[in-house]
Amino acid sequence: MPQTSKPPQIVIVGAGTAGLNLATRLSRRLGHAGKAEITLVDENLSHMWKPSLHEFAAGTKGFDEEISLLEHSHRNEYNFRLGRFTGIDREKRLVQLQAVNDPANRPLAPKRSLPYDILVLAIGSRSNDFGTPGVAENCMMLDTPAQAKRLQAELLNLFLRFQTGALGAAEKLELTIIGAGATGVELAAELREAAGQFARNGIHKVRNADAVTIRLIEAAPRVLSALPETISAKVARHLRELHIDVMTGAKVARIDPGSVTLSDGTTLSSNLTVWAAGVRAPEVIGQLDGFETGSLGRLKVRPSLQTLDDDHIYALGDCADCLWPAKQTSLPPRAQVATQQAEFMERQIVAQVAGKPLREFSYADHGSLVAISNEGAVGSLMGKAIGTITIEGWLARRAYRSLHFLHRKSVLGPWRATLSALLGGASRRIRPKLKLH
Ligand SMILES: Cc1cc2nc3c(=O)[nH]c(=O)nc-3n(C[C@H](O)[C@H](O)[C@H](O)COP(=O)(O)OP(=O)(O)OC[C@H]3O[C@@H](n4cnc5c(N)ncnc54)[C@H](O)[C@@H]3O)c2cc1C
Repeated sequence: MPQTSKPPQIVIVGAGTAGLNLATRLSRRLGHAGKAEITLVDENLSHMWKPSLHEFAAGTKGFDEEISLLEHSHRNEYNFRLGRFTGIDREKRLVQLQAVNDPANRPLAPKRSLPYDILVLAIGSRSNDFGTPGVAENCMMLDTPAQAKRLQAELLNLFLRFQTGALGAAEKLELTIIGAGATGVELAAELREAAGQFARNGIHKVRNADAVTIRLIEAAPRVLSALPETISAKVARHLRELHIDVMTGAKVARIDPGSVTLSDGTTLSSNLTVWAAGVRAPEVIGQLDGFETGSLGRLKVRPSLQTLDDDHIYALGDCADCLWPAKQTSLPPRAQVATQQAEFMERQIVAQVAGKPLREFSYADHGSLVAISNEGAVGSLMGKAIGTITIEGWLARRAYRSLHFLHRKSVLGPWRATLSALLGGASRRIRPKLKLH
């Protein structure tokens, strides 16, 4: 780092799983001691744990777990800037931010630039529609808290319209999810849980499970094709038990209002269609000048997590294409990767600021867990001592929930994370099991 009297400016763009974790860690390690000035940028004012978006969307989890970035930055003594990242002026070392407006189109934050000495890009991923016609216009997606809130509102309104007769003579509701990866599978199971809760809370027309068709369409020959076949088979069995229609080997050709057409010409009617068929890097990554992109349009990084083209710019989490030498492929876009990279990046940046040699990131795969509605989960745990074991049921669900707790512990600290888990547990006992407003 250049030896000047001013502490280096470290700018992290994206306050998600990786970015918020890193900002919290760096503010403790460097910011508090005045060894660096930490700035976190996001286009939203709050952070939500993305792997829970399907629960928020189904209404089975309240939005009370959102973390305010204004409050979090104040408490942890780093700067938070509201803004949409649009580019980088590498010569002048400036991050360019577009204006952010409120829903009435009044500016909340103007277009501006922020200086950096070290820049970390952690802007996550977006759904990939693979150019399928009609997806953008007719499907809901689950990339952001705003989309989860919109899906929850649409779902509630749909069930209400069905109950009141406002939907016309429809005899059943048809919900379609395209993509049987972790997001699609978890959402399908959560929607079945939500349908059961609607039935218990005044939407009597859906008391019979047959009144709500939940359909999961997958182009690959099996659900969760990225995971081992044993897990895939167990999950498929659970989905059948939940009366979810799983259609594998079925490629979607087009989405129209109220219907989904498959490549073999079959047309399926659908009251609500959710696209969850994979992710890619946000478009802005491909628009950055002079950077090499790789799989899923992600920014290619070296083992140090520096971009190929600039020693001062790092990328991590879903937007980074990092080689996984053990498998000779790229690391998958998963929370486990984002979290480990944030932990690594804390040490990396501390070393860079101190002028010490940089290290190489090494990923430890601890397995995969997929939640199947309220109490169940299926997956594998991996470790040196235990090898690979497949788990399911209550134990798997606890292990799945512990990932979220560990994230909250990193960003809120152990006391606040434990207290909020206890309070959350207590409030779940007294509030409705489904968000009904
Ligand atoms: C429904 C669902 C279930 C999932 N379940 C699992 C699971 O069980 N296990 C697992 O490992 N992974 C799971 N994932 C994937 C996991 O959530 C992601 O891999 C992880 O969140 C990636 O972290 P990240 O920090 O890279 O990005 P994110 O957590 O997505 O954060 C990106 C941040 O960048 C901000 N941002 C984006 N663009 C801009 C911009 N232009 N300007 C400013 N800010 C911007 C966003 O607002 C966001 O705050 C799931 C994902 C979904 C959607």
